[in-house]
Amino acid sequence: MAHDIFTPDFKTEPYWLDGLTPAGTGNPSLPASADVVIIGGGYTGLNAAIETARGGRSTVVIDAEAPGWGCSTRNGGQISTSIKPGWEELCRHYGTERGTAVAREGHNALSWIEDFIRRESIDCGFSVVGRFHAAHSRRAFERLAAGIGKRPPGLEIPAEVVPRSEQRRELGTDAYWGGVVYPRHAALQPAKFHKGLVERALAAGSVIVSRCHASRIDRDSKGFIVTTGLGAIKARDVIVATNGYTGTVTPWQRRRVIPIGSYVIATEPISRDLMDRLMPTQRIISDTRKVVYYYRPSPDHTRIVFGGRVSAAETDPRVSGPRLHADLVAVFPELAGIRVSHSWMGFVAYTFDTLAHTGVHDGIHYAMGYCGSGVSMASYLGMRAGQKMLGLAVGCTGFDDIGFPTRPFYTGRPWFLAATVACYRWLDRRT
Ligand SMILES: Cc1cc2nc3c(=O)[nH]c(=O)nc-3n(C[C@H](O)[C@H](O)[C@H](O)COP(=O)(O)OP(=O)(O)OC[C@H]3O[C@@H](n4cnc5c(N)ncnc54)[C@H](O)[C@@H]3O)c2cc1C
Repeated sequence: MAHDIFTPDFKTEPYWLDGLTPAGTGNPSLPASADVVIIGGGYTGLNAAIETARGGRSTVVIDAEAPGWGCSTRNGGQISTSIKPGWEELCRHYGTERGTAVAREGHNALSWIEDFIRRESIDCGFSVVGRFHAAHSRRAFERLAAGIGKRPPGLEIPAEVVPRSEQRRELGTDAYWGGVVYPRHAALQPAKFHKGLVERALAAGSVIVSRCHASRIDRDSKGFIVTTGLGAIKARDVIVATNGYTGTVTPWQRRRVIPIGSYVIATEPISRDLMDRLMPTQRIISDTRKVVYYYRPSPDHTRIVFGGRVSAAETDPRVSGPRLHADLVAVFPELAGIRVSHSWMGFVAYTFDTLAHTGVHDGIHYAMGYCGSGVSMASYLGMRAGQKMLGLAVGCTGFDDIGFPTRPFYTGRPWFLAATVACYRWLDRRT
C-alpha cells in the first residue's frame, strides 16, 4: 500500500532544502525603476544578475514565488555537457562551423561552472564524481560503446566502457547491460548552489523581490515597463529567465518551450554496508532510455535520490513517489523495505529541437529551454546574457541566432505530451 512506503516525516519538498536556511533577501519593496529587470530568480536569472550588478547596472530580480522555487532547488544536481543532439547531427543541421560552436558550448558550460564555483568559493558540495551511463538493453550497450571516440579534436569526451561483467564495480545491480563512465561529469547540492548565487547577487548590489509575478511587459520611450502584482517597474533592459514556468507574460517564448514535469524521490537513510554495495562510488547515474531515470547517492552517502518521469500526464508527488519507489526497487531489489522520505517534482523546459536557446526578441533578452540539463547551461547562459546586457562581445554564444522553433497551433500547453511519453516507453521496450 502506498502509505507504507512513506516515512512518518515524509515531505513533498525537495530533500535538498532539509536543514538549509534560505538566504535572506531583505524582503525589499519593488523599486520604481532599474537598469535591468530580470524575471525569474533561478540559476539563469541570478547568474545574469551577478554579471549586470557587478558591471554597475542597477539590477532587480523578481520571482513570482521565492527565488529558487522553480527547478533550481528541485533538480538532481547532475552536471554534464548539457547538449542533447550529437555533434554530427548539429553539423548536419547548422553546418560544421555553427554545429561545432553549439557543441563546444556544452563543454564551455561544464568548465565554466567548475571554475565559477571554485572562484566564488560557493559551498555546494561541487565534485567531479563522474557519471555511469547505464545501458538498458544489449543493443543500447552496443550503440553506446560504438559511439565512444567519435568526436572531433577539441570536443573529445573522455569515456570508459564498462562491460556487464564489470558493472558491479559501478552499481550493485544486474538490471543493466553495462554502460559507460564519463569521468568529467560532476555533482552538486542544487539548493546550496542556488543559495550561494542569491548571496553573491545580493553582495553585488542586486535587489531580489519575492512573490512578485510579472503580468505584462510594455515598451516606453526609454525601455520597458514591467507590470507586476506589486506594482510597475521601469527598466532599460529586461531578461526573461522563466524556463519551465514561462507563462503568458511572454507569449512568444511560451510558444517555444514545452513544460514537462520531472519527478524525484529521496529514500530514508540506508545502512552504510548496503549503500557501499549498491553505490560503491559517489558517481551520478543515468540510463539510455528515452524516458530516462537519473539518480545518485546523497552527498553524505546515506540515501539515494532517484528521479524520472513516471506518469504519462502530470501527477502529484504523493502519486509519483510510490511509482518511483517501485522503479528504484526494480533496479535494486534489496531496497524493497526502504521507505521514501521526500517526493517532489518540477517543470523542466524542453524545446522542439532539444537545444537551449538564448537571444533577444522584441528587445527582450531571454535564456531558456535546457531540456532537463540546466544546472551548468542555465548558469552559463544566464551569465552570458548578463554580459550581453553590458555590451560585452564575450556574451555572444554559439546559440545566438540559431532560430528558436515552435509548431503551428502550439501555445504552451503540451497536449501531445502523454502520447509522446507513451510512444517513448514503447520504443524503450523495443530498443
Ligand atoms: C526534478 C528535476 C530534476 C532535474 N535534474 C537536473 C539535473 O540533474 N541536472 C541538470 O543539469 N538539470 C536538471 N534539471 C533542470 C534544471 O534544474 C533547470 O534547467 C534549471 O534549474 C533552470 O533554471 P532557471 O533559472 O532557468 O529556471 P527555474 O529555476 O525553473 O526558475 C524559473 C523561475 O521563474 C519564475 N517565474 C515564472 N514566471 C514568472 C513571472 N511571470 N513573474 C515572476 N517570476 C516568474 C518561477 O517562479 C521560477 O522560480 C532538473 C529539473 C527538475 C525539475
